[in-house]
Amino acid sequence: MLYFIDVILPIPLQKLFTYSITPSEASFLKAGIRVAVPFGKSKIYTGLVFNIHNNAPTAYEAKEVHQILDETPIVNKIQLELWQWISNYYMCTLGDVMRAALPSAFILESETVVTKNFIKEIDESILKDDEFLIYEALHHQSSLKIHDISNILDTKNVLPVIKRLIEKEAITVDEEVYEKYKPKLVRYVKLQSNFSTEKGLQSLLENLSRAPKQREVIMTLFSLSATTRKPVKVTDLSIESKASSQTIKALLDKGILEEYYIQTDRVQYNGTDSEASKNLNNHQETALTEIRGSFNKHNVTLLHGVTSSGKTEIYVKLIENIIAEGKQVLYLLPEIALTTQLVNRLQTYFGEQVAIFHSKYSTQERVEVWNNVLSSASKAKIVLGARSSVFLPFNNLGLIIVDEEHEQSFKQFDPAPRYHARDTAVVLASIHKAKTLLGSATPSLESYFNAKQDKYGFVELTHRYNNVLMPDIELVDIKDKHKRKRMTGHFSDRLIEEITEVLNNKQQVILFQNRRGFSPIVECNTCGHSPQCPNCDVSLTYHRYRSQLRCHYCGYNMAMLQDCMACGSPDLDSKGFGTEQIEEEVKLLFPNAKVARMDLDTTRGKYGYEKIITALEQEEIDILVGTQMLTKGLDFRNVKLVGIMNADNMLNFPDFRAHERSFQLMVQVSGRAGRTEERGKVLIQTYNPYHTILQQVSTNNYINMFNEQMNDRYNYKYPPIYKQIKITLKHKDYNKVETASIWFAKSLRHFFGDAVLGPESPPIGRIRNQFHKNILVKIPKKQSLSKTKEAIVKINNSFLSIKDFRSVKVILNVDNF
Ligand code: ADP
Ligand code: ZN
Ligand code: ZN
Repeated sequence: MLYFIDVILPIPLQKLFTYSITPSEASFLKAGIRVAVPFGKSKIYTGLVFNIHNNAPTAYEAKEVHQILDETPIVNKIQLELWQWISNYYMCTLGDVMRAALPSAFILESETVVTKNFIKEIDESILKDDEFLIYEALHHQSSLKIHDISNILDTKNVLPVIKRLIEKEAITVDEEVYEKYKPKLVRYVKLQSNFSTEKGLQSLLENLSRAPKQREVIMTLFSLSATTRKPVKVTDLSIESKASSQTIKALLDKGILEEYYIQTDRVQYNGTDSEASKNLNNHQETALTEIRGSFNKHNVTLLHGVTSSGKTEIYVKLIENIIAEGKQVLYLLPEIALTTQLVNRLQTYFGEQVAIFHSKYSTQERVEVWNNVLSSASKAKIVLGARSSVFLPFNNLGLIIVDEEHEQSFKQFDPAPRYHARDTAVVLASIHKAKTLLGSATPSLESYFNAKQDKYGFVELTHRYNNVLMPDIELVDIKDKHKRKRMTGHFSDRLIEEITEVLNNKQQVILFQNRRGFSPIVECNTCGHSPQCPNCDVSLTYHRYRSQLRCHYCGYNMAMLQDCMACGSPDLDSKGFGTEQIEEEVKLLFPNAKVARMDLDTTRGKYGYEKIITALEQEEIDILVGTQMLTKGLDFRNVKLVGIMNADNMLNFPDFRAHERSFQLMVQVSGRAGRTEERGKVLIQTYNPYHTILQQVSTNNYINMFNEQMNDRYNYKYPPIYKQIKITLKHKDYNKVETASIWFAKSLRHFFGDAVLGPESPPIGRIRNQFHKNILVKIPKKQSLSKTKEAIVKINNSFLSIKDFRSVKVILNVDNF
């Protein structure tokens, strides 16, 4: 009997690829195991076994698998089912999904090099036969490649052996690639036992009286390890005692200290002394009961709870229940909300049962969380993670919480898979037969609509915890510059007045401005020219701090100009404003206040936002200026005032969701004010205080907003009434992308008639030297989505077969956001 496997490869080709295996390999290969396979003339890819069968491919001769990389599957059946759903629903390949799902360290090169571990001599008697053969070979040859090992052992299944050799510290491998198997070793020291008695320590300190630095180290060690004399981390010791590595080495050489390497996880867990969760108040208790009741009828429930109503504490109660049943919980959050605030809160309740997963983690850290979730012995039962944590290898989920479910950052734009983590979570939960709770103070129209249609359950919380009133929201008209409404820079008198008062009371202020940089447009007063990005069709944004002009789409930057590029006039002006300018103005207006800024420019690096959030929490900042990063579920005790510098630019953004989003942003950022005791104050500066959205924000009238927006969506055939698929074509040659997009739209019209819009150039028609054209297909609820997609795939295939269009990139975006 012949055996074959179908393999998912990390490439954007729709199909699976078939390879041949031997009967003995067939006896232990399973779906979800990785294999290294040859591809094309010379490439080797890491792929994932999708299934095993006896059908030889007809179109080509199946090649043999090079290596088998796992003993047991690293991806389970449920995950593969989810991958298939994503690939079908979001119209991408399984390879696309695999690349997004697996930490990149899993997709390893097959050229990995193994070397002997020279740091440590090991006792060869502990090696099994196969391990010994490899170890022996390394005595004569400095390094071995994986396929050398394969030859020596005459098997393709070499990874398990390598893994065992690493565990026995006999060999080392290429850092990056095999990080997965390499425990991280942390260096510890402890006092040599002769000195651990009171007397011993006394005489040691006397002996060291001539070596004050060494003496200091011993004193510090003693204070850190206390009476137990347990080992202390060398990094902690040198920080605390300010000792150099030489000083510590001298103590080791003298035999006063002993060193150890202790294996630890890279991902640190703290807060091991767990606390009991809080007692809920009546509103929360009722909501909790209603959620449980609703789960009897619905798999998905929407919790609409105003800002600071205490949704998190309700989640905690639900989580307690699920883990008591021995099941896992996935708690999804937007990236930014995954800061110390919520992490600490959950860790105080659940300790090591919480694993964190966010995109700023290195691939090694991701692997660690992955293995932690995969292992049934692991303590981690709750994963707190951003978008991509839907891909972790859960085997027994009981509940998924999607907090801030309205957040658009749950949808991945680029690259494929262009999935929405909230909607994917609902599917993931249903495969596990688990429940999903969506939570928000400003639900997406999609979810609220589903709740109204009784597709989702619905629970409401209308009071803030502690009965703190919702913030008082005042609209400040900045159009009328006569009367009393003078402006100082971008600050109205009203705003200055309120900030002054809040600062006098030692409370804090948040100022929201939706654009970063200093000003989005620099314009010549003589000829009107404004500097543009050479790669994109946008004006460059002025960043005063770096004295640069920068493109926010491709990162292009240049030094700020002294004179106009077009006419040489020195009379340059800046139009519009960003966070940098607000920060500068506020510093001039309030020279004694401590001011900080939170936007993409100030939060790079792993702990970028964490630092600012902690500083605000600890009241080291009086005024924080920031972009929408400020809106994501943060909880501060002493913020009294929120100022929205300009409501109009977000309302006028050219997108059918602009009004919904503006409402959500403004309500969310307002929700940061007055959360604990006293009622907060919000000032919204606008040229158009009678805009319905602003009226709805100021009265916190979600339902009104919902009804009105739904009306528009209905009239203009937008989601959630209609589904839509956006097709984007890209090419560096404008004429080519235009011809191609006209062809594509015409073919689509043949199938779908006037449900097809476009092709149209988006507001920014060229990005990174690629011209874009968009085509929109609107799909009524009663039209079959899968049939529609089938037709689009057919059109796309025929498009790809046209030689002239081959270099045009086609992007399919289902449920585009
Ligand atoms: P939301 O997520 O709805 O915006 P939070 O869960 O952050 O609200 O709660 C708002 C504030 O109220 C937090 O500081 C939280 O610690 C506090 N809080 C909420 N519920 C309780 C409770 N049952 N007991 C004590 N404090 C609570
Ligand atoms: Zn000019
Ligand atoms: Zn650019």
